[in-house]
Amino acid sequence: MPAGSDAGAADLLEVHEARRRVLDAIRPVGPAVCVGLREALGRVLAVPVVAGVSVPPHRCSSMDGYAVRSADLPADGLEVELIVAGRSAAGAPHAGVVAPGACVRILTGAVVPEGADAVVIQEEVRPAGPDRIRARGPAAPGAYVRLPGSDVAAGDTVAEPGHRLGPAHLGLLASIGIGEVKVHRRPRVACFSTGDELRGIGEPLAPGQIHDSNRYTLHGLVTRAGAEVLDLGVVPDRVDAVRAAVAHAAAHADAVVTTGGVSVGDTDHVKAVVEDLGRVDFWRIAMKPGKPLAVGRVGEAMFFGLPGNPVSAAVTASVFVVPALRRLGGERSVDPVVTRARLTAPVRKQPGRLEYQRGVLSAAADGALTVTPMTGQDSHLLAALARADCLIVLPLDCGDVAAGAWVAVQPFCGLWG
Ligand code: AMP
Ligand code: MG
Repeated sequence: MPAGSDAGAADLLEVHEARRRVLDAIRPVGPAVCVGLREALGRVLAVPVVAGVSVPPHRCSSMDGYAVRSADLPADGLEVELIVAGRSAAGAPHAGVVAPGACVRILTGAVVPEGADAVVIQEEVRPAGPDRIRARGPAAPGAYVRLPGSDVAAGDTVAEPGHRLGPAHLGLLASIGIGEVKVHRRPRVACFSTGDELRGIGEPLAPGQIHDSNRYTLHGLVTRAGAEVLDLGVVPDRVDAVRAAVAHAAAHADAVVTTGGVSVGDTDHVKAVVEDLGRVDFWRIAMKPGKPLAVGRVGEAMFFGLPGNPVSAAVTASVFVVPALRRLGGERSVDPVVTRARLTAPVRKQPGRLEYQRGVLSAAADGALTVTPMTGQDSHLLAALARADCLIVLPLDCGDVAAGAWVAVQPFCGLWG
């Protein structure tokens, strides 16, 4: 172990291995449900969506101008006079065939009439008397013409199961006339906080007491992960109370998430209770914050016993609970977005644990992404977490990092922001 590294780090499980173990064991919850298109925003598709129609359904113009026969236009850049034989507007096609020497006034989105194979944009056309224009060649066959099925061809699979539907998918499904989709049921997640010192909002605080904040942070993260929260309140630090709460939670939810009482103090009962009622798969992880973190199972429910410190609870939830819930909700790709940014200030770190520090992203004058670590990195500094917009991910083996170095960052994106 390098000098100055974390004491006792040798028996800790590495984060990527712990994540792999958690995710590999997950099977999505069932059964799938049918929802209307608007309601499908943010839901995870349970079946493939296959297009029954092509988009666009017809050849159409991408510009305002004149539909022409490209062979009519001189290849040498000279002008030609054409008869305007009709008009094709979006939703009001021209019925006839465009004859040699003729053209049809056409507007964006309108059907390109039979006989025509190109559009000359109106900026390149001059009027030449009633129903006549002069157009300059050449016109490449297919110019400004969108082909049927160039966006979606009938029979195409436009969305795969396991995909979380965003605004563009709603539009895409509407474009092929689909108004209902089959999505995964939202996982149900029971949450409670443990701690004799914790009081709810509105309750007066006696000496030594604090407000329970973790349940609210978790409510946000669990909801953003696409799951439903079953809020079981605050549970005191008594074995019987923790036991009853874990048993009740596991019987009523797909996953149970608790905070506090998971370490080795006299009042830390969570791990022993879960070992008794179910099993703890692992509980010591080589990460900071969040070394004590019990992951296991009680009955059919996954179990996550998170540390009590507010930042530790939030970070461990985002690293383990959020991807697990997304997978439980049927989502295939649950890896966080990771990019690189240049440090504007040095960071302190001891080798031995992977560390998630909080930071703020911005762009330097040269356009590079930079990250400024929060000045306080203690695991109780919830205000600093709320000001941050990314996690700085420092690998297990690395020590202090100098200003100017490039580091991995996970922007909060839609999860926290
Ligand atoms: P524990 O993990 O139970 O030892 O708690 C570690 C620290 O986090 C203690 O200072 C607790 O008071 C604090 N803490 C635990 N649970 C919560 C909570 N739900 N909200 C705010 N602080 C908490
Ligand atoms: Mg406690």
